[in-house]
Amino acid sequence: MKVIKIQNRAVRKLLKEMAEVAGFLWQRGWAERNAGNISVNITGLADEKNLFTEDHPFFKLETEYPDLSGKVFLISITGSHMRDLARKPKRNVLLIRLNEKGNGYWMALAGKDNPTGTSPTSELPTHLGIHQMIAQNGGNEKTVLHTHVTELIALTQIKEYCNEKKLNRLFWTMHPETAIFVPDGVGFVPYSTPGSQDIADETLKALENHKVALWEKHGVFAIAPGPLEAFDLIDILAKSAKIFFLVRSAGYDPQGLTDEQLKILKALADKF
Ligand SMILES: [Zn+2]
Repeated sequence: MKVIKIQNRAVRKLLKEMAEVAGFLWQRGWAERNAGNISVNITGLADEKNLFTEDHPFFKLETEYPDLSGKVFLISITGSHMRDLARKPKRNVLLIRLNEKGNGYWMALAGKDNPTGTSPTSELPTHLGIHQMIAQNGGNEKTVLHTHVTELIALTQIKEYCNEKKLNRLFWTMHPETAIFVPDGVGFVPYSTPGSQDIADETLKALENHKVALWEKHGVFAIAPGPLEAFDLIDILAKSAKIFFLVRSAGYDPQGLTDEQLKILKALADKF
């Protein structure tokens, strides 16, 4: 397949960030085997879109994404391992450009062929659905990141915490900075088969008012301007969950922050 050599400095920087984040996910134990995927909207950053020609392979999409007409993305390859993406990003990331109708895309490699596959992540419809929602809402988020955060998945194995209100209260009361840096909390997505329309629809709903969607018994989808910012959101939430489990495993019930303390933090969050 054709290779597009990434020349643009801004896009190269983003690719480097994707690799850095992939390394963090692997180190944290949040990306076993081929778990996790990432996409970054690079439209307008580079002239990569002009490099796509009719010679590039074209693939039809089952759904139309009219708001993504002509948009260009860097996206992880299906079956790619985050530990590999960390070391060889160009080999594990593809470039895609949507056609005018937004119902198909041209594809190009960013580097040499990857033996694990040369198509975008199987979660492509969810990624495109989220990017479309961001475009419709005029959001500044360019990155969509999916990963299996052990601590957060573990929380959704507890029935009591399969409840958005309870989950967010737990996150915010376990560490003051969670209330400041993730003031919207997470949107809870009840269990559905991965890749199904149901889970895609529920994820979009959850991301309307939150930057992170937590999939019951599976993982998270986070949206942020850049890959590192998406990672930070997840990392902060994981810290709160870790504190909760640590106190519980020591045989105690965490005290948590009080309503009054939380109120002050929320007011602080508004200033950021
Ligand atoms: Zn997953």
